[in-house]
Amino acid sequence: MCSSDLGRLVLPGGVVAASLGIADGRIAALAEGPLDGHEVIDATGRVVLPGVVDLHVHFNDPGRAHWEGWGPGSRAAAAGGVTTVVEMPLNSLPPVTTVDALEAKLAAAAGQSLVDYALWGGLITDNRDHLAALARAGVIGFKAFMSHSSTEEFTHVEDGVLFDGLQRLAALGQVLAVHAESNAITQERTRRLQAAGRRDRRAWGEARPPVAELEAIHRVLFLAQQARCRLHVVHTSLPEGVALIGGARAAGQAVTVETCAHYLALTEDDFVALGPVAKCAPPLRDAARQEGLWQAVLAGQVDCVTSDHSPCPLEDKARGADDVWQAWGGITGIQTLLPVMLTEGVHRRRMPLAQLAALLAANAARIAGLWPRKGAIQVGADADLVIVDLDRRWRVEAAWLQSRHRQSPFLGREMQGWVERVLVRGRTVAQEGHVVGAPAGQWLRASPPQDREDQPV
Ligand code: ZN
Repeated sequence: MCSSDLGRLVLPGGVVAASLGIADGRIAALAEGPLDGHEVIDATGRVVLPGVVDLHVHFNDPGRAHWEGWGPGSRAAAAGGVTTVVEMPLNSLPPVTTVDALEAKLAAAAGQSLVDYALWGGLITDNRDHLAALARAGVIGFKAFMSHSSTEEFTHVEDGVLFDGLQRLAALGQVLAVHAESNAITQERTRRLQAAGRRDRRAWGEARPPVAELEAIHRVLFLAQQARCRLHVVHTSLPEGVALIGGARAAGQAVTVETCAHYLALTEDDFVALGPVAKCAPPLRDAARQEGLWQAVLAGQVDCVTSDHSPCPLEDKARGADDVWQAWGGITGIQTLLPVMLTEGVHRRRMPLAQLAALLAANAARIAGLWPRKGAIQVGADADLVIVDLDRRWRVEAAWLQSRHRQSPFLGREMQGWVERVLVRGRTVAQEGHVVGAPAGQWLRASPPQDREDQPV
């Protein structure tokens, strides 16, 4: 047994000063006094959080590992306190829309990933006959786009395919994660803005206005409700979107919602100032909407906060410096996810640590079917832990970043709350911002619904 002494442990019910014992990679004991162990980590004066479960990352490997890859992506995860990633089916080649492609992705991840990983499958125009086999093979759910995705091969779905897919996934007991923006509205707006010669950064937001996101959320909620399919709305950027989803949930619909750290820490004005490094879809919104989103998060109306980590080579951002349409849309954010939430949530907005743990770990683990193995500090769970120096102030520097391309919209920004040490199944994988472990991440399948302690939130 190894143990961690008397840190402030963030348990599902609150924060307690306690010791934690680890045996065989799992949490074996929680005790008010010190525990014996052949190795003892002194966590006195530190906060111990459950390892972050990031439900939304793009590592693009195989096929586009020059954008990121399982090696650098998982090192960035580890250094930032993310111990489980749930990786998206698109941007890799082939995209995970068949079992063959799933196996190719598993082969790419094996021996490279420092952290544990689960995989989303994809629902595209022409792969509905593959959904059942992908579900059996162990994906934790499926992802679909209602508007054009960032890659040609991952086709978006119009309502006919979307509804059929929802019905099939309902029969399979699977969740559909959906990128909700109206293709009709975003395409029409983009065409008109481009025809008018607009290339400035504000044109990006004008092409993807709130109504495009809200209309799509409204529509997919209705379709999922009719199909009786569990739904997860990814990266909602709007408080009005959260409210629509909350209304459906209050009416009994099985739907969850995530937002991303960048919607909570950056605004459209930041995008105008920073440029392509902060380009994403849906776009960054204004300060009033950001504040509304914070209120929704603090009120418990948002299930989880993710990174939507989606890097690219530096030149794919640079070519959009003076023409916003030319820049790759995606934010490099997995390593800054926890620091941003500590800084902006815990310190600036007094978010309780137990709520932070729910938003960054427990709820995502439930949505992905990884609970109770992942997502909380509790006896029997994997010993995935983040030891944090909560008060330490530091600045984001390129040298700290572990991604293949060292870019971040948060470069130079002061943070409060330092990720000191990170453990995956009891093994230290990162310490003081440096990766120290060998890649030994494991593939996680969703536990069968009947084995889950809790139903999805
Ligand atoms: Zn994404």
